Formats: sequence, C-alpha cells, structure tokens
Amino acid sequence: SALARDAPTYVAGHGGLVGGAVLRHLADAGFTSLLTASSADLDLRDRDAVEAFFAVRRPATVVMAAARVGGIIANSTYPADFISDNLRMQVNVLDMAARHGTTRLLFLGSSCIYPKLASQPIREDSLLTGLLEPTNDAYAIAKIAGVLQVQALRRQHALHYISAMPTNLYGPGDNFHPQNSHVLPGLIRRIHEAKASGADRVVVWGTGTPRREFLHVDDLARACLFLLEHYDAPEPVNVGTGTDLSIRELAELVALVVGFEGRLEFDTSKPDGTPRKLLDVGKLHALGWQARIGLREGLEQTYAWYRQQLDAGT
Ligand code: GDP
Repeated sequence: SALARDAPTYVAGHGGLVGGAVLRHLADAGFTSLLTASSADLDLRDRDAVEAFFAVRRPATVVMAAARVGGIIANSTYPADFISDNLRMQVNVLDMAARHGTTRLLFLGSSCIYPKLASQPIREDSLLTGLLEPTNDAYAIAKIAGVLQVQALRRQHALHYISAMPTNLYGPGDNFHPQNSHVLPGLIRRIHEAKASGADRVVVWGTGTPRREFLHVDDLARACLFLLEHYDAPEPVNVGTGTDLSIRELAELVALVVGFEGRLEFDTSKPDGTPRKLLDVGKLHALGWQARIGLREGLEQTYAWYRQQLDAGT
C-alpha cells in the first residue's frame, strides 16, 4: 500500500550510488520528510550513535542503502573491512529501526549473495544452496546475514521489512577509482583516459568471457519505492534487467560510447570472478515492475556525467 509521503523516511547511505538515486527518486515522488545523515555526522558502525539517531528522528520508513562496496580487487584485498563494516552497519540500522518504531524497511543486498555456481538466471530460492564466489565471500556473508535478519524480524516481531537483491549497478555518482571500482565505471575511466592520451590500446581485466548484467541505479531507485509499496514477504526480490553480456562486449560498448577506436587487450593475470551472474527477474515482473533504461542509453548518460565531473574538477 502507498507510503505516507509526509512520514519521516530515512535513506541510509545517501552519499553513495544507490542511496543518492533513492533519495532523488523519493523527492521526485513527493516525499516531504526525507532524513539523511552523512557518514561524517553518523557513523553507522557506531551502535550508540545509530541508537541516538533513531530515538530522536523516529523514521517510519527506512531504505538501508549504506554499505561498504567495491569491485573484485577491493573485495579480495579488504575482506576483513568488508565483513566487519557491513555487518555492524546493517545490524545497527535494523535493530534500531525495530526498536524505535520503523514500520517499513527495505534492506538492499547484492546478487553476489547467491552461490558461485547457481543455475542461471539466478532465482531467489537458490540462496544458501551452494558455495560462494571466493573473491567476495566476506561481503556476501554480511549481506546474507542482513537478509536473514530481515526474515527474523518479520517472524519474531511481525515487522513488514523486506529485502531486494540488485544486480550489478551503475550510474551517476558511481566510484570511478582505477583499482577499486566495479567493472563498468573502471572501463569508462580507463577507456576515456586511453582516448584522451591518444593510446592505441586499453587493458581490460580478466579473459573478457565472464557475463554480467547491469542495471541503471535510477531504475533500481524506482524499484525500491515500488517494492516498499507493493511487496511484503520474507523472501528477497531480485532486481535486474533480465539481460546480460560478456565483459568483452561491455568493453566494446564502452569504447563505442567513448569514441575510442584502439584495441582491447585482456590482462588474464587479473581475476575473472564468477563466470556468469544474471538474475531471474520473473518474480519482479510478476509483481508488475520492469527496468526501463537500456544499457546503451544508460552508458551514454553515465559517461556524460563522468565528463561533467572531470570538467568541474572534482
Ligand atoms: P563482480 O561482478 O562482483 O565480479 O565485480 P566487478 O564489477 O569488479 O566485475 C568483475 C569482472 O569484470 C571480472 O570478470 C573482471 O575481470 C572484469 N573486469 C575487466 N576490467 C575491469 C576493471 O577495470 N575493473 C573491474 N573491477 N573489473 C574488470
């Protein structure tokens, strides 16, 4: 049912890719009492600080989009940070939401929670049926704990909390760090820099054969509000486009959008990660929601945003 547009609504992690898009979308949808706190003002790993925030602000609705995230290298370099920071942030937010009167909460997970060799496209019920991809298992275990906490809060306290599992996301506000970013922003940056420096080749990590699905974060933001208003069950819901492509095809598409005409070189000393990661979005489609932003269009818009940031010198 429709959420009250004037009820206090907290977007945790609004400084990030997902939280930023959710905040913009809720504002566009008429939410008038949006709550945010920057990580400098509220460290979500600090339980007392999170308790104080919830006790005072008492959000009716919470979107838990705060997480420590990163690409394949960041995840395998800092697994201790990934598991500890994510567990602490989400336990604090979910506990305090339950304790201080939050009636609706959406927890955002990630498609990496599913087993490495799950049958494709990946259905929600494959959760916990097999071993995880080792390059991001610490992060995945934290996110799985979040899904289970949502289910436990529903059972024990009859709370209408839900979880969504987005596929690989991209869009304005992404992290374009050369080492620690995800593949799509990483390729935009490297291919842009190759073109700018007049290079005749660009390095793509891995073999180029793994397949991934990419969802524009504005589509995810729409899905978040849709689910908060139309879904109320313990099982997570996958959020994706239903279409994937190989890393090589992705790199070719980025080269086309950037206008880079040199060669792609594959650095096979870098990890491939899981061979394929395509979500089954049958459940979401049956609920009545579909992604709208095509990859070509989304890439063009994200590349335009990236160049604007460069021009602005930030
Ligand atoms: P994953 O989807 O969780 O595996 O994480 P990523 O977004 O980091 O995607 C990793 C896939 O893209 C792997 O197959 C990498 O080898 C490949 N890849 C190619 N170039 C890059 C790059 O510049 N950055 C990243 N992160 N991955 C890349």
